[in-house]
Amino acid sequence: MTEDCIFCKIINGDFGTEFVYESENVVAFNDINPKAPVHVLVVPKIHVASLNELEDKELMGELLCAVKQVAKITGLKAYKTLINTGKEAGQEVFHLHLHVMGNK
Ligand code: 5GP
Ligand code: ZN
Repeated sequence: MTEDCIFCKIINGDFGTEFVYESENVVAFNDINPKAPVHVLVVPKIHVASLNELEDKELMGELLCAVKQVAKITGLKAYKTLINTGKEAGQEVFHLHLHVMGNK
């Protein structure tokens, strides 16, 4: 856990955020400012700043499996998956997250 990271705090349960999905190393929760009717963030439990810092291929796989599970759980048949990497690309929170966005 990184002290000043908002997603580490969410993962730690500091705000009582409900998890849409949880696996051994991954959690998913609703985006606070949704840009689609369903907008979920899939996040590794360990602090990884961005995709560029992620080396663990098993965790990469677990993150994509989580995306599929989130789509299933939230009833999405079609959805977009987005990863912003770097400030210039629009990354605002520097704890890796995969956006899952779609209409039910
Ligand atoms: P980025 O621009 O880094 O790819 O996306 C960050 C996302 O995190 C944004 O869609 C923003 O709405 C969401 N976000 C920022 N702070 C919080 C928060 O405290 N809780 C939740 N659930 N989402 C957040
Ligand atoms: Zn973090």
